[in-house]
Amino acid sequence: MIDFQQVINSIHNDLKQEIDRGLVANYIPELSHIDANNFGIHLKLLSGESFSVGQAQAPFSIQSISKVFALSKAFQLQGNDLWQRMDVEPSGDPFNQLSLLELENGIPRNPFINSGAIVIADILVSGLENPKEDFLHFVRALANDQTIQYNEAVAASEKATGYNNYAAANLLKSFGNLQNDVADVLDFYFYQCALEMTCEQLTNAFYLFANHGVCLQNKEWLTASQIKRINAIMLTCGFYDEAGEFAFEVGLPGKSGVGGGIVALLPNQLVISTWSPGLNPKGNSKIGMQALEAFTTKTKLSIF
Ligand code: GLN
Repeated sequence: MIDFQQVINSIHNDLKQEIDRGLVANYIPELSHIDANNFGIHLKLLSGESFSVGQAQAPFSIQSISKVFALSKAFQLQGNDLWQRMDVEPSGDPFNQLSLLELENGIPRNPFINSGAIVIADILVSGLENPKEDFLHFVRALANDQTIQYNEAVAASEKATGYNNYAAANLLKSFGNLQNDVADVLDFYFYQCALEMTCEQLTNAFYLFANHGVCLQNKEWLTASQIKRINAIMLTCGFYDEAGEFAFEVGLPGKSGVGGGIVALLPNQLVISTWSPGLNPKGNSKIGMQALEAFTTKTKLSIF
């Protein structure tokens, strides 16, 4: 029997000494103030136990991790029609790269690069009655936590500076792959990215991805087949041009965000989240990736 508390304590202890913690994202000005020394880990086993160390209960900006929730909601609403508007191939490029989108006639490579997530946002703006409110309720229900909120200042900060995302949305619109106005779709997208959650709330909200679509409260939100597909996209595209590296080092489906969070899961067994705001050059949490590599190596728990 593995002593999980001891495992995450020792990983936390080793990595909190690390001097080079990566660089906190500053292209969204509001994120640049976050202290790079924050470091939390939360682990939830499907058997019911949970383990925490460090800042696992501190809310942070989940950024692109929200793309998994948005994809889930859109998949639930639209089923496989979704895949007419985007592909499921790794891009091998950074999350905000635009040239491939132009070359491939406005069909994003996958739902986790920004252009793909903007198409998903368009689907939610069309399909939800009150998009921001309904999406927040969906995430709260998955996590079984009514306290989860958007951070208005982070949403406003990205709205004021998100030129690359405006470019992506305009390109999508020019190819006929956005139904709503660019401004409305991006307003939703920036709020979605500005959700604040703790490591613990993230592990709870991701429980259904390890449990064939059935969440903590025993409600089935997505089919086992849909969950299989979302996990496959997390494994192949969850870390952009570092997805291969994450599969190689960690060996779990997962998703990162430029707020420094990572969530990863092992079907039928566990969900684990880390938060360390400093990023590596590919935009993924530097210490978070190292922590997860150490976790799967020490416990021998990975999909491989
Ligand atoms: N909101 C961020 C953006 O659109 C999300 C990027 C990320 O977390 N990788 O640039």
